[in-house]
Amino acid sequence: ENVNLLHNGILNYDLTSRNRNGNVDINPTYDFNGRTLTTNDLPRILRDELRIQKSIGEGAFGVVYRGYYKKTGETTEMRVAIKTLEPKKDMTNVEVKFDDDNTPNPEVEIEKIQRIKRAELSCIRDFLTEAIIMSQFNHPNIVKFIGITFEKNYRFIVTELLSGGDLKEFLRKNRPSVQQNHKIIPIKLKDLLKMALDIAKGCVYLENLHFIHRDIAARNCLLSTTGRGRVTKIADFGMSRDVYRNEYYRKDGQAMLPIKWMPTESLIDGVFNSKTDVWSYGITFWEIMTFGSMPYTGMTNKETMNYVMRGGRLSRPGICPEPVYKLMGSCWKTNPQTRPTFEYIRNKLRLFIQDPAIIDFKPPVIGRPAAQLPYR
Ligand code: ADP
Repeated sequence: ENVNLLHNGILNYDLTSRNRNGNVDINPTYDFNGRTLTTNDLPRILRDELRIQKSIGEGAFGVVYRGYYKKTGETTEMRVAIKTLEPKKDMTNVEVKFDDDNTPNPEVEIEKIQRIKRAELSCIRDFLTEAIIMSQFNHPNIVKFIGITFEKNYRFIVTELLSGGDLKEFLRKNRPSVQQNHKIIPIKLKDLLKMALDIAKGCVYLENLHFIHRDIAARNCLLSTTGRGRVTKIADFGMSRDVYRNEYYRKDGQAMLPIKWMPTESLIDGVFNSKTDVWSYGITFWEIMTFGSMPYTGMTNKETMNYVMRGGRLSRPGICPEPVYKLMGSCWKTNPQTRPTFEYIRNKLRLFIQDPAIIDFKPPVIGRPAAQLPYR
């Protein structure tokens, strides 16, 4: 598992170290491309500089809000997303043990409190780690980090607002069958390829930084707006963050690995390399071309693993022209070294988007229309 740390930087924290107040020091440091970063390097935002408006989603740490940020002394307000850190209730749900005479056992009680504290600390650490990771990126196809608020009761990560919501949901809401509703502007093949291109651009950037995302998927991409001119951005760095915990693949006792997005080599021995993201990208591309279908529809994770190990791959989405499917399929080559680079994928997509033979492709209607195949 530690192989990956080479690529993503190394996170250190020491629970035995204490700060000046005698509290455990939870400040993670992160070695990123030779630079050591701590949360002190992150831009700070004061609670009073934020105006919280409305909840827009639920993240791993708590509710995500939209709102406004106005830096003290400035006049313009900026629309932002505010991710809050609220320790989950089940974190504190530690069973109380009683002695034989039914009185609480003080040692057990102390241990219980320590467990709660540890759970809280680990939450704060994850939260800060994600902020440090996000703060390192500056690219139009990666959600922009603005700052953190770290006051006693206000722990926020503030990022640019992407009001179009997540890509998977957008795709599902805009399926051709739904599009008959005249209020919806139909999404064309070119629009879909543009989304794939946007994500590829973000991935080229990450690839050049030798950063492995590990969880490229439609659900983890957000759209700037739903209308024309929408830009797709990579948003969720939860998996890259969780690598720093030994138990990163388990949450609440459940395996949390995105099996259906993972390449054969990661399924076998948990190794992640720079070509891991290329495979996941291919699956994401398939999600886009099927308007947000579940990959390997109807198969469980286990069945998918068996299927993929035996050489099985996702089939061509009906609306997908052959050259596009060929590019998609090349992401799923068993040998990671023969998968394309993101640069290659981006360049190919740029050509496809301008090629009438691609964007005016009409799926042949033989028997049942192929375009209906994988929608579920
Ligand atoms: P986590 O990684 O902590 O699980 P996410 O980043 O996936 O949280 O956020 C959860 C949800 O909140 C997303 O699915 C999305 O709907 C919303 N959200 C998160 N960040 C933004 C943003 N920058 N702009 C708009 N909505 C966002």
